[in-house]
This record gives sequence, structure tokens and C-alpha cells, in this order.
Amino acid sequence: MTWYDVYSALEPYGRMAIGGRLKTIGVPGLTLIGGVHYFTNKYGFAMDNVVKYEVVLGNGTQVVASRTSHPDLFWALKGGANNYGIVTKFSLKTHEIPRISTTIQAFSESGIYDYIQAACDLAKFDEPNPIAAGGVFTIGYNATTNVTSALVMGVQEGISNPPSQFKNFTAIARAIEDPQRDHWKGICREPGNPKSDVPVSRKPIAVGNLLTSY
Ligand SMILES: Cc1cc2nc3c(=O)[nH]c(=O)nc-3n(C[C@H](O)[C@H](O)[C@H](O)COP(=O)(O)OP(=O)(O)OC[C@H]3O[C@@H](n4cnc5c(N)ncnc54)[C@H](O)[C@@H]3O)c2cc1C
Repeated sequence: MTWYDVYSALEPYGRMAIGGRLKTIGVPGLTLIGGVHYFTNKYGFAMDNVVKYEVVLGNGTQVVASRTSHPDLFWALKGGANNYGIVTKFSLKTHEIPRISTTIQAFSESGIYDYIQAACDLAKFDEPNPIAAGGVFTIGYNATTNVTSALVMGVQEGISNPPSQFKNFTAIARAIEDPQRDHWKGICREPGNPKSDVPVSRKPIAVGNLLTSY
């Protein structure tokens, strides 16, 4: 069973589960290793949203693991992967489907220091009432063109344009236009000219901000 099956079954009820960001991923593997969702900062990992497991143990017996039944196994299955038995049923907490805002932003090499700082600043898990927000963050190096770039694909709950939780990414354009803040000078290389120390572009390429519903 994949997250596509779960999300499709819940959608008519206006509910969602905390599971895979790519819906073709399987439910059991992701949930048993933890499971990172876009909204983990508010709802926890996929494993935190499991209220009950039905498990076939190594000796062939089937048990229910929950807060009150086999609580030690219930605890161990949250991150315990396939080490404790075969899970035949997961009971998951569900949440109301929110309206969401999304952003996609790409950065050239000169913006990567600020990009990493913005990603660290976003990763706050200790706020009492956080706005659910997360994303996919990648830094890539193209060996053919000798160019490094970074990408954020962000999602947050609520309507906000540009999405407020990604303001530190959106602000990078101004930060890297200031030469005093060009931390990468001397490290960056122009594509096709490995001796150059001039960053090719000081501006991130803003691919777009989208408002959409889940
Ligand atoms: C394209 C892609 C996108 C991904 N995106 C995310 C993401 O957004 N968030 C995230 O957290 N992870 C993500 N992952 C990682 C993903 O969580 C792991 O690959 C996970 O193992 C996938 O689970 P599965 O059920 O599809 O895999 P499987 O290969 O079927 O299983 C993985 C492991 O779980 C065991 N297992 C399977 N079913 C059971 C069961 N019923 N009982 C006990 N053990 C079982 C298997 O023996 C195996 O060891 C992604 C992976 C890929 C390839």
C-alpha cells in the first residue's frame, strides 16, 4: 500500500495523514523508519501519528501494540524498522486538510551560504503553535558545467504570498547583492572558466510562488 492509496481514501472526508512527500512511497517502510512529511514541524513524523499497530511477531503470534497494549513494542516500532515483526495494520491519526501555499526558488552558487542559513532557521521545532511548513532542500553540483546550485521546494499551511515561512529564502536576493556579504567570493567559479573567482549571478532565480489547495 502506498501513500497515494491513503491520501486518496482520506480526501473525500477532508482529512490527510502525515506520510510520504512523494505519494508513490510505501506506507510500511516509511512509517517504520520515522517518516518525514512537509508538516513534520507541527504534526511530528509519520511514526508519531500511529496510534496502534497490529504485528505478527517472530514466533507467529499476532499482537496489538498501542499506548496500553504492549507499550514497549509500541515504543520500539516508532523507528524500529523491520526488527520487531511484520506490521499488518497501522492505525493513523488524521488531520483536516489545510489550504496551502507553495514556493519554488533556485539559487546560484553565490547564494548557497545564505541558503543553508535560511534552511537552518526554518527548522524550528520548539514553537508552541507553529505554522506547519517544510520542503525539499537540495544542493547540486553539475560536473559538466562546474556549477553548484541550490533549490527549495517549500510548502506551508495557510494562504500567504510569498509564503511567510520561507521569507529568509526570498530575502537572499537582497543579501547577496551586497558585496560585503558575498561569503563565496574566491570560491565560486564561472562555468567554463575554472580560474574565475567571480560568481556568475548574484541573484537567485525565483522560479515562482504558488497558491494552491491540497
Ligand atoms: C523517491 C523517494 C521519495 C522518498 N520520500 C520520502 C519522504 O518524503 N519522507 C520519508 O520519510 N522518506 C522518504 N523516502 C524514504 C522512504 O521512507 C524509504 O525508502 C522507505 O523504506 C520506503 O518504504 P516502502 O514501504 O516503500 O519500502 P520497502 O522497500 O517495501 O520497505 C522498506 C523496509 O521496511 C520493511 N517492511 C516493509 N513492509 C513491512 C511491514 N509490513 N512490516 C515490517 N517491515 C516492513 C522491509 O522489509 C524493508 O526493510 C523516499 C524514498 C524514495 C525512493
